[in-house]
Amino acid sequence: MLVHICCSVDSHFFLQRLRREFPEERLIAFFYDPNIHPYSEYRLRLLDVQRSCKRLGIPLIEGEYDYESWLQAVRGLEHEPEKGKRCQVCFDHRLQEAARQAKALGERRYTTTLLVSPLKSQQQLQASARKIDRALGTQFVFVDYRSGGGTQEQARVSKQERLYRQNYCGCFFGLAIQRAQQERFMDEMIEPITHQVLPNSIEERLQLYQRRLDLEEEGIEYTILRQRLLNYRLLQGWVRVQGEVVPSYIFTYSLLRHKRAKVRIEEIVDGVGIGNRDEVRVIDLNLLNFLARSNFSSTKELYFKGLLPQEETRIRQELGLGCYDLSPLIVLDKIPTKLEIYLDAITYTDVREKLLTRKSDA
Ligand code: SF4
Repeated sequence: MLVHICCSVDSHFFLQRLRREFPEERLIAFFYDPNIHPYSEYRLRLLDVQRSCKRLGIPLIEGEYDYESWLQAVRGLEHEPEKGKRCQVCFDHRLQEAARQAKALGERRYTTTLLVSPLKSQQQLQASARKIDRALGTQFVFVDYRSGGGTQEQARVSKQERLYRQNYCGCFFGLAIQRAQQERFMDEMIEPITHQVLPNSIEERLQLYQRRLDLEEEGIEYTILRQRLLNYRLLQGWVRVQGEVVPSYIFTYSLLRHKRAKVRIEEIVDGVGIGNRDEVRVIDLNLLNFLARSNFSSTKELYFKGLLPQEETRIRQELGLGCYDLSPLIVLDKIPTKLEIYLDAITYTDVREKLLTRKSDA
């Protein structure tokens, strides 16, 4: 039987139950979820499904990440709520591919781990499967592992196996609606041009779960803890000198009182230009290279390559600004006498996962 997989939290428990109840079946897992956005989140969920299938000894096939065709399929349904028409089309899309894959492997029977998710409509899934089976001659296997305490058991298994627990269904549209209802900033959609791995970004989680796999292979004990933090995202920013936008690098945790400020550099103390408002600090590239032990040839190069966020925090501390500093700290090729700054950035409380080994933290 081919089992379409949506995520490890649903699949691990589902596959265990399926194996118990269909001992004669050879199970093949099929990860086909082009609905997941962004791609880094797709990689993260796949990574955890790979771990789960390996632990269960079930072969896994990765389907194509054909995001464009999924987008075409749900076109016009972007504003539908969860369990609405977009989800129906999304199920059609994924189950059809699962049924095709089953046939290509010489299997007639297929099912999906979406059936166990409490947030999905089993009726919608069955409606998709009926259409597909009529067209392809396949046989969808319906099982209800939610009832009779199944959902509670699934939660227990997911905790015990330390599976990656995502906090949105998968697509951009569902996430946008969910975050709007929560009045929460959609930081999943932000990735800096520098490709810096920002605190509690999907990329940071991807690194964490990859590192966890390495630890498991090396047989090193670890734990995953949650940590509350003040997070930050720069949405947009620029610096003008004499009316021209110049290459600039804005340090993480830089905030202006209002988004725009005209600043005069009042004095330069130990190489740091002190602005006359909003606690602005400006340093030149030479000082940055000295502090970061780097060799950037221009601010433009720094802008595209970036520093690690923890490196930026260390430099703030070396400049005597302390670890709670939110002053705008800006790198320019040269310190000007006057500048205009536009800075659209937010801070927000957030909770991230942290991987700890017995000896040190990762
Ligand atoms: S909310 Fe989930 S099921 Fe619905 S369309 Fe988006 S990814 Fe698919």
